[in-house]
Amino acid sequence: MENIVEHPSLPIDLNQSGEPEGERPRVGMCFAPGIDFCRFCHEYAYREGFELFIKSSELLPEFKAKGVRRGGVGEKEAKADMTSRIRLKCKGGGGAAKTEGCNVTGCKMFVYGVLKGGKFEILGCDLKHNHDLNPGCSYLMVNYRSIDQGTFERAIINDNAGISINTNFSAQVLERGGFDNMNFNNRDLRNAINLDRRMSRCLGDAKALQDYLKKQHELNNDFYSCLRVDDGGTLLHAFWSDARSRESYKYFGDVITFDTTFSVNRFRMPFAPFIGINHHGSSIIFGAALITHEDTDTFVWVFEKFVKCMGKKPKGICTNQCRAIGRAVEVVFPGVPHRFCLWHLLQNASKNLGTNANWKDIDRLIRTAVHDMMHQEEFDEAWCIIMDKYCLREAGWMKEQYETRTQWAPAYCRGTFWAGMSST
Ligand SMILES: [Zn+2]
Repeated sequence: MENIVEHPSLPIDLNQSGEPEGERPRVGMCFAPGIDFCRFCHEYAYREGFELFIKSSELLPEFKAKGVRRGGVGEKEAKADMTSRIRLKCKGGGGAAKTEGCNVTGCKMFVYGVLKGGKFEILGCDLKHNHDLNPGCSYLMVNYRSIDQGTFERAIINDNAGISINTNFSAQVLERGGFDNMNFNNRDLRNAINLDRRMSRCLGDAKALQDYLKKQHELNNDFYSCLRVDDGGTLLHAFWSDARSRESYKYFGDVITFDTTFSVNRFRMPFAPFIGINHHGSSIIFGAALITHEDTDTFVWVFEKFVKCMGKKPKGICTNQCRAIGRAVEVVFPGVPHRFCLWHLLQNASKNLGTNANWKDIDRLIRTAVHDMMHQEEFDEAWCIIMDKYCLREAGWMKEQYETRTQWAPAYCRGTFWAGMSST
């Protein structure tokens, strides 16, 4: 029985392997257990221009016994050096549909390492790919994106000053002279900032949070908060909104955006704000939740508290494409138009199709279809042309998005409501 272990924490320090630069994995090579082996392979992948993921691995019995597992947190988190064997595989073949003409076609490239006599030894590898490699774009790949310390510290200062993450990120883009010079994206910045918020402010601690919320209520009676704890007193979820946010909702609460993508899941407490747009076109926060589970029950609880706090439902809601959120919207906001955030959708496009050799063309065509096609027929035609031209009509991201287009494509949503979301 294999225990799948999640990817070791990234970014990888790309210059610390101790192996001669430029060396390729080969059978018989030995490394210090776990981490060195993975680092060496990732460095190789970076140089060559592709990404690896841990296809499978076996935890050492001592760690299994301690309850270490995939998705574990802190001491329970599985790390590469807790394993007795690891199979790394090229992401180019990561379960993507086998479609002729596309490069995401089950690439067989792999490296297999096993713990033997205190060393990690490469027992097997196949370095052939069935797709193009792109060393010039490695820095854009998920595995290698990172935020340097200076940038991160400034982002935290901005965040503490109340500057939104979007603005924070845009400032970085401007400073670096454009997106081409970025080695992290908006979402990376969100994750990093959220992790810092959680670590430094101890929001995971129910008592600390409870005290904080109570104090806010004492300072202002209109501060609303609600906590949900389990039988053992452990915090499950929290929702709060201050007096100003509640007042703003009265004026600008027609359409709300609810988003849970502010945190990495392994910290188990995504930060989920309710956001709106004011008369200046700026984002404003109506309220926020901290949650431990991203399931329908949780979102129903959060939405119910939101309605109770605000006194009325919104006229439209915009969310990321999470099924559990979708079901909760149906329960708490029946009949309220529900749209998907276009910004997230376009982000997902690069995540799902970014490894395609024709990605630049596909990206351009998707954006044209989304932003320039005013009529439903035009949009349908443009989207279908992309699917046909790049063999994406079979099961996969393009097809799935097409099926839900009435919930996100401007050509379909025009005239109902459009949340004024960033459409870049
Ligand atoms: Zn490959």
